[in-house]
Formats: sequence, C-alpha cells, structure tokens
Amino acid sequence: MRKNIVAGNWKMNTTVAEGIELAKAVAAKSSEVPASVKLIIAPPFTHLVPVAEAIKGSCVGLSAQNCADKEKGAYTGEVAADMLVSAGCGYTILGHSERRQYYGETDEKLVVKVKLAIANGLSPIFCVGENLDEREAGRHFDVVSAQVKNVLYTLSAEEMAKVIIAYEPVWAIGTGKTATAEQAQEIHACIRKVVAEKFGDLADEITILYGGSCKPSNAKELFACPDIDGGLIGGASLKADDFIAIALSF
Ligand code: PEP
Repeated sequence: MRKNIVAGNWKMNTTVAEGIELAKAVAAKSSEVPASVKLIIAPPFTHLVPVAEAIKGSCVGLSAQNCADKEKGAYTGEVAADMLVSAGCGYTILGHSERRQYYGETDEKLVVKVKLAIANGLSPIFCVGENLDEREAGRHFDVVSAQVKNVLYTLSAEEMAKVIIAYEPVWAIGTGKTATAEQAQEIHACIRKVVAEKFGDLADEITILYGGSCKPSNAKELFACPDIDGGLIGGASLKADDFIAIALSF
C-alpha cells in the first residue's frame, strides 16, 4: 500500500516567529488527521531547526525546499543534504518549477541533487509539470514523461523506492486555476506507467502528489482519483486550518 501524503510548501513566506507559530498550530491539529495520512511541512532553511523543535513529539514530518548539488565546501549560499538531515529533515522538495524557472535548475543538476539527497537519508519530493504553452500545444504527457525519465531513470530501484513524485502543472501554481480531477488523474496514471516501464511493480508503491491551487474545496475530488495519493500544497499550507482540512479530505 502506498502512503497518502499532504505536504506544505511554505516557499519564501513567514518570519521565524511566524513559522514556529504555524508549525505549532499544524502539530496541535495533526492528531485530527488519520494515521494513514502523513503530514509534512517545508519551511524556509532559516526555520528548520526551531520548526523541528516545534513539531517534536507530533507525527508531522519536516522537509526542506531544496538542497545543494555538492556535498560540502566552498559553495557560498548553498545548503547540503547532510546539513538538512542534521537540522531534522526527513525530506526535501527538489525540482520545483519555481527553481527550474527562476534559478536555472536543469534535469542534469537534479540527477545529482536527487542522488545526494537519497544518499544522505532524505526522501526527495521530486516535482514535475508542464507550463501553459506546453499544455496548450498538447505536449504535457511528453514533457512530464521526459522530466521523469531524465532524472528518475538514473536511479537504482532501491533509490527510487525513497522518491515521492509531485505533479504540479505550472499554470495551476499560485494562479487559483486547478487542474480538473480528470486532467490530474490522466497525468498521474501516465507518470505511474512511465515509472513502471523502468521499475516494474515498484510503481504501485510510489506516492504521487498533485500540486497547484489545491485547497479544502477541491482536495476531496482530486484525492478520490486512483493515482492521486495526496497533495503538495503552497498557499493553502500557510493556514493551519486549511492545511489540516485538506489532509482530512481523503
Ligand atoms: C506549489 O508551489 O508547490 C503549489 C502547489 O502552490 P499553490 O498551492 O499555491 O498553487
């Protein structure tokens, strides 16, 4: 049985004090969520250590939003995978479309980051998704399949078993436009098929999240789809009540 996960990507939001307050509120309400649903929060780097302390004793998991493509050394401004583990992280988001778009993150770089994350004990939440032009040109299946193949086909089965995939159509991120449940399901099924072509039955165990304007009002319909195993939540993860309401939508 694959895991259901609801992960909150806080992006570059909240001060440290606000982040601690939000994390405490999520941890306090997390007992309302069935044990079959794993909650994860991904605050900015500066918040990781105090947020780890704030969620201690709850079953909320901690994720970073990125990690370096190097192990350590003279790479000013970067944060390595083992540093994230030492700060309390079990996960890191990798390949978010905002990193691909604004920070030049390529598939080649993501291969290195995904491998380093796994080698250091993190589960990568690996993001894929097409932009509006690609969707309108009917190229979404090809684009997403290529993103999966270029990065995840370089992994061993043992490494792949640690990966969580997030499908996030770029045109739905922060825009208020959500993919319909039908649009999301067909891409999720395609992703699982592409994973199965390389990794066989392991594909059935891989959690595939939907992300893109997911909120309490649309989560139920999305999560009811057979290949959608939860959500990567941006805006709605900044309010503990909305985040928990999404997690209660299974
Ligand atoms: C995201 O960027 O991961 C995301 C899903 O954002 P939003 O929910 O705000 O669209």
